[in-house]
Amino acid sequence: NSDTAMYHAKEAGRSNYQFFAQTMNAAAAERLLLESSLRQAIDRNQLLLHYQPLVNIADGRIVATEALVRWNHPELGLISPARFIPIAEDSGVIIPLGDWVLRRACYQLKQWREQGIPLQRMVVNLSPRQFRQKHLVQTFTQVLKETGVDPHWLGLEVTESVIMENPEEAIGILCELKALGIELSLDDFGTGYSSLSYLKRFPIDKLKIDQSFVRDITTDPDDEGMVAAIIVMAHQLSIRVVAEGVETEAQLAFLRGQGCDEYQGYYFSRPLPADELDTTSVAAC
Ligand code: C2E
Ligand code: MG
Ligand code: MG
Ligand code: MG
Repeated sequence: NSDTAMYHAKEAGRSNYQFFAQTMNAAAAERLLLESSLRQAIDRNQLLLHYQPLVNIADGRIVATEALVRWNHPELGLISPARFIPIAEDSGVIIPLGDWVLRRACYQLKQWREQGIPLQRMVVNLSPRQFRQKHLVQTFTQVLKETGVDPHWLGLEVTESVIMENPEEAIGILCELKALGIELSLDDFGTGYSSLSYLKRFPIDKLKIDQSFVRDITTDPDDEGMVAAIIVMAHQLSIRVVAEGVETEAQLAFLRGQGCDEYQGYYFSRPLPADELDTTSVAAC
């Protein structure tokens, strides 16, 4: 009868669920857990920003700081963005999260300047979904106005893949941002698929050589050649070059020799909370 049929269906459902639960791997389980708590992380004040200086190679001065988000999870402790940004991106939480990062970073820049630290620029990362959001330019203009930050004091970093998804549309958005006075950087350069013909047309100010190329510049001739070539090419296009992930004096010496403009990395400073950052070598505006 229908009762027994119902009973069998329920049992089947339950065992399906058990099967699912048992075989669902640890990564998927973690993802599910993080996704549900990430939605509340902003309201519960669990997000924080660390800041890492970008240093002018010629005079050793800090020209900007990059804001890098961290999540202080009540049970799991400090979680790195590599673990939760992809989840935020897939679930859409990246939109409110990105707004929070921008607002927080702008307030911090404002605060440093009010304390007499003349930091030129605050740099923020933009994920693909943020970049594609409808009212990106309006939202950013609004936050800048609200925090009293001049657009010339803000830098944005996007990756090649963000732009190459729809290059024509991306160029339009980048031009709008640039027209406001915002500085634009291509992040993780060398790991994506941007074609050189587009590179010429992107209105970008800076190119950040990914740390995977910088790591072995003093030991691997291939990486040495590649980094040297990227610097020459970028300069031909009037684009400044930043090296990411610089950890040693030898790497810095090589970059200086090749005419690289700026660097960022543990050699100068790890990303740190605002009050732990050594701001003595901030360049005057
Ligand atoms: P990214 O924008 O390329 O940032 C550079 C990453 O390299 C940071 O990792 C930084 O801590 C790390 N790093 C800096 N110097 C060194 C070094 O000398 N050696 C090594 N091994 N690593 C170094 P982090 O903070 O874990 O961030 C990872 C990525 O997460 C970022 O890569 C960025 O793509 C993303 N991310 C971070 N914060 C945000 C955010 O607010 N919004 C978005 N959309 N993405 C973010
Ligand atoms: Mg970045
Ligand atoms: Mg990068
Ligand atoms: Mg990276």
